Amino acid sequence: MMKKYFFPAAMLVIFETIAVTLWLTKDNLFYLFNFSYIGCSIAAGLFLFIRKYKHARRVTQLLVGMYMLLYLGLACNENMQIEGFWYYLFTGVFEAATIHYAVAKIFGPLIFGRGWCGYACWTAMVLDFLPYKVPGQPRKKIGWIRYVVFAASLIFVAALFLARAGNMEKIMFWAFIVGNVLYYAVGIALAVLFKDNRAFCKYICPITVFLKPMSYFALLRIQCDTNKCVSCGKCKRVCPMDVDVTDNSRKRKNGTECILCFECVKNCPRNAL
Ligand code: SF4
Ligand code: SF4
Ligand code: SF4
Repeated sequence: MMKKYFFPAAMLVIFETIAVTLWLTKDNLFYLFNFSYIGCSIAAGLFLFIRKYKHARRVTQLLVGMYMLLYLGLACNENMQIEGFWYYLFTGVFEAATIHYAVAKIFGPLIFGRGWCGYACWTAMVLDFLPYKVPGQPRKKIGWIRYVVFAASLIFVAALFLARAGNMEKIMFWAFIVGNVLYYAVGIALAVLFKDNRAFCKYICPITVFLKPMSYFALLRIQCDTNKCVSCGKCKRVCPMDVDVTDNSRKRKNGTECILCFECVKNCPRNAL
């Protein structure tokens, strides 16, 4: 019985460890609250998943996504977009956005892959409400756009520093608002155009420049028990990210695209995943 709930308990312990460590080392109670809340939200989603609740992942995604967008972003004026990361990096402050990136998008993926994309991202939180849950068209070869967006975000912030722009905090807040509006507009347009909720993630999102290489080494990944698998192909048909799920190698097709949504696991008729 307890073994069944090991995974949510382990995630809670990992996040509490981060929460307490940052609280004590940075002498700031916010980190205790922040990472405890995120840990509890993730554990709640995993718990509901084990209890076979259909929308378990969406519960975590909404709890974390809304908190980050509305509370951290809008109420606390923290730019957690990639521009915010560059901004804090250039100012040399290991705070807010830099810590967030280190945990969720740079070192965290070594453990939980692109769990961020499945359970926390506020852009995908909205895109996942759209009706194209399974891609309606084959993948396009336009993934290079993410590198252009990545470079543009870096150049934008570097230019602000070089120009010694005044009131940078305010600029970053407005960059957060405009950036999010643009992301949602482009994300929804692409989803409709390509009949694919996750088209933005596949072709545009600059964060994947960090996420993809790090998640290649992820500890947690979907594995296929080849003794049970009957090669029915259902897992690949339901995968929103076109992952070749039955290939267990790290080099499997679109392997670094997996967002750990467990749709393949839920749909496998042989419990092979
Ligand atoms: S790829 Fe980007 S937009 Fe998509 S879920 Fe991940 S971080 Fe969010
Ligand atoms: S759904 Fe299950 S049985 Fe079918 S191909 Fe995938 S892993 Fe194999
Ligand atoms: S369906 Fe499976 S392989 Fe595809 S993204 Fe979700 S967890 Fe990963």
